[in-house]
Amino acid sequence: MGRSNNGHRRNGNGAGPQLELVAPDQQFVRAPDVDRVAEALIATHAVTFAHLRNFNLLLLFKKGTPPKAEESGSFIHAIARAFKVPPLWQSVTGYEVGFWVWEWWWDRFAPEQREALAMHELLHIGISGGKPRMEKHDVEDFALVVRHYGRWSDSVKLYAQQLSLFEAEQTQPVG
Ligand SMILES: [Zn+2]
Repeated sequence: MGRSNNGHRRNGNGAGPQLELVAPDQQFVRAPDVDRVAEALIATHAVTFAHLRNFNLLLLFKKGTPPKAEESGSFIHAIARAFKVPPLWQSVTGYEVGFWVWEWWWDRFAPEQREALAMHELLHIGISGGKPRMEKHDVEDFALVVRHYGRWSDSVKLYAQQLSLFEAEQTQPVG
């Protein structure tokens, strides 16, 4: 027997069946840990993030081991990235916008680094005419993040560089 279907669609207010948002290979999964950090930030910075209360945020972990960190200016975006949900999926999922984080990095981050990263991604989500709009930052980070957390990404970069060195040593041929 398959699942019963009475022909009526519920309108997605929580009573209906959960839509499966995870790809078969589990590349992205829901991230309750990130939800908690984001919710706390939105509550703490209530004015800055007031517009985010208009949206259901879809916050995800990206699974797997990230490639070696790059030296480019998009370093933070290699760890996490904000996105808009394609219009086709907005009405059926109830989500318009969100961000994903490599779980590998999140696991290695201290609480302050997690907050800084989440704040960075939340600041990428603006609003225009009631719809989410992707916001850009000047250099590598938003001024507000630097003001609160300093140059947090420098320590992450250093760690990434050390990892790369270590990996390089490991892969040198024995001779
Ligand atoms: Zn960014």
